[in-house]
Amino acid sequence: MEGLTLDTLVSLAKRRGFVYPGSEIYGGLAGTFDYGPMGVALKKNIEQLWWNRFVATRDDMYGLDSSIIMPEAVWKASGHLEGFTDPMVECEKCKHRFRADHVEGEKCPDCGGKLSAARQFNLLFPVEMGAASGGTTTGYLRGEIAQGMFVNFKNVIDSFHPKLPFGLAQSGKAFRNEIAPREFLFRVREFDLMEFEYFIRPDMWEERFEYWRKEMWAWIEEVGIDKEKVHELEVSADDRAHYSKRTIDFEFDFPFGRKELYGLAYRTDYDLSRHGEASKENLTYLDEETKEKFVPHVIEPTFGLGRTVLAVLASAYREDELGGEKRVYLALPPAVAPVKAMVSPLLKNKPELVAKAREVREMLRKVNPAIAWDDNGNIGKRYRRQDEIGTPYCVTIDFDTLEDNTVTVRDRDTGEQKRVAIADLSSTLF
Ligand code: ATP
Repeated sequence: MEGLTLDTLVSLAKRRGFVYPGSEIYGGLAGTFDYGPMGVALKKNIEQLWWNRFVATRDDMYGLDSSIIMPEAVWKASGHLEGFTDPMVECEKCKHRFRADHVEGEKCPDCGGKLSAARQFNLLFPVEMGAASGGTTTGYLRGEIAQGMFVNFKNVIDSFHPKLPFGLAQSGKAFRNEIAPREFLFRVREFDLMEFEYFIRPDMWEERFEYWRKEMWAWIEEVGIDKEKVHELEVSADDRAHYSKRTIDFEFDFPFGRKELYGLAYRTDYDLSRHGEASKENLTYLDEETKEKFVPHVIEPTFGLGRTVLAVLASAYREDELGGEKRVYLALPPAVAPVKAMVSPLLKNKPELVAKAREVREMLRKVNPAIAWDDNGNIGKRYRRQDEIGTPYCVTIDFDTLEDNTVTVRDRDTGEQKRVAIADLSSTLF
């Protein structure tokens, strides 16, 4: 919807149980958000769709779930201890901190005070582990999930002997001590990533880069992100991460401006080579046919899950008028909608309607568990509630149902209703 503001999305997200500010009863913690009942369902559905598309249905992809805490040695070898920094400036008056590349001019955007010179600020979160007499060991919460894939490269090679090209994939939490978290789910300190490292022969990189670029567009469409609002940005050598030889950012027109949604990077053999040197493990690949031994190169598509949730919500948000009344609805693809259908008896105080409706709900739940029940208030209000969370269909059991075993199925987007035989319900809805 044109003119959609972030405030509108934030308040819908809170009202309908998608996303709450983190630790809200204590005043909130900057850069953290908690997913509510609808948000967690949406997030898990997106993650599952991603997993099915890129991992489960492919023979060249191997799934992982690696540890969040990793030792200092990993981050030293990967270059993050040194290079995973953002330039920070601090206001000498109000002490607020900003990312130097996010402020224009030399004055504090909050109070007009003088800003300090920029210094590099490392985004990794250290964790002190253990209390042995020898002291503690410093580990780090992972700042990206990619390193979990690189440190398991040898394990997967040894267990499965995959042929190049192949990928290691995972989704999970990453942590960055962002200088100025902002814009709702866009820039937070704890977030979920979905990502894979796709290992290739070096001479394949251009062809595979193109392939994954197209696949990313196909995903954008499947998950329900408005393609018109997505733009590729070729990242210049100066702006690329330390490991990358080519990067394309996929930017999205968020309500607060055009910003990075996803990234596609050619990481060369940087990570495996560095880990090979630092760990003294053999991280080369032996091509059985040519007997050639080399360190594979890597193409990495990265998908921020929180930013996906935000882009999907922004793409799905609609306001219109239905039957002379204003309404808000989310035109979510059924695959990601938190609730697939809502079942309700026309009247709450008619036991025969309630019993029949319960029976229909249980039948549908055998096909898909995400079937809601609502018998509160009048039927119009129930429809509106489901519209706001993006439920594709509402099923109503009325007195005719008791006579002829048909129900009313109401479509979220058009508000149109049709009679459907209970026997055909499952094939109509799913
Ligand atoms: P930025 O320049 O915006 O800080 P970046 O270029 O450092 O981001 P990448 O390292 O490319 O980001 O991160 C990979 C993906 O992780 C991004 O495409 C984005 O989807 C997600 N991401 C990065 N930082 C955050 C964050 N602070 N909060 C939420 N998602 C994030």
